[in-house]
Amino acid sequence: MFVDSHCHLNYPKLVERQAEVLANARAAGVSTMLNISTRAAEWDAVIGTAEREPDVWASVGIHPHDADTHEDIETAMLVEKSRHPKVIGIGETGLDFFYDKSDRDRQRASFRRHIAAARETGLPLIVHSREAEADTAAILGEEMGKGAFTGVLHCFTASTDLARKMLDLGLYISLSGIVTFKNAGDLRDTARMIPHDRLLVETDSPFLAPIPNRGKPCEPAFVADTARFLANELAMPTADLARITTDNFFNLFTKAKP
Ligand SMILES: [Zn+2]
Ligand SMILES: [Zn+2]
Repeated sequence: MFVDSHCHLNYPKLVERQAEVLANARAAGVSTMLNISTRAAEWDAVIGTAEREPDVWASVGIHPHDADTHEDIETAMLVEKSRHPKVIGIGETGLDFFYDKSDRDRQRASFRRHIAAARETGLPLIVHSREAEADTAAILGEEMGKGAFTGVLHCFTASTDLARKMLDLGLYISLSGIVTFKNAGDLRDTARMIPHDRLLVETDSPFLAPIPNRGKPCEPAFVADTARFLANELAMPTADLARITTDNFFNLFTKAKP
């Protein structure tokens, strides 16, 4: 049984065929999915899917791409929305200086408001970071000093150095289908240094379909392919990797614990 720790079931390419996507996931042995929100207008739909489906959970947050369009989102609004019993995480939030779709200072401010919500609720923070290693480490380190919170750096593609800094802060690291890509040798090296009790897997679907599904819209069923690949890299049976990453998911996202 696998957990997809990060998917977007309400995004185009998945939402139109959500029932089939969920059936495929269950058939592939995916027992739990975390449906991630990225914009306030999505929150009710993302939570609605989690209300209907017992194996789907939800997050509330604003993607760094949307920081400019959500300047009015305050910590209290995230906290309020996260009281829903199926909301188990805050995010995705963070910094994306690769696409720079929102002003960097607005991204930083939004990130800190999400961190405050994670601290206040005790729910894990789901962090997106692209081409923003120094700022990600600085903000997380500084905020951790103000009061502890938990979280995960999702779709990890950064350096081993950033991985170490995240682990030192007590955060988890989630690997997506990128780890299966031919040119991801550095990421595979990083994967080998992540302690087994801090590792998660995800699809980030509908993006980033892993080998052997590249070119298709990604869906949660494919987390099984990433897990199989990663188990081979880490020289362990797939069943062990599945058990470890499932245990880690519920140790982090305690609100989802059976
Ligand atoms: Zn992301
Ligand atoms: Zn995402």
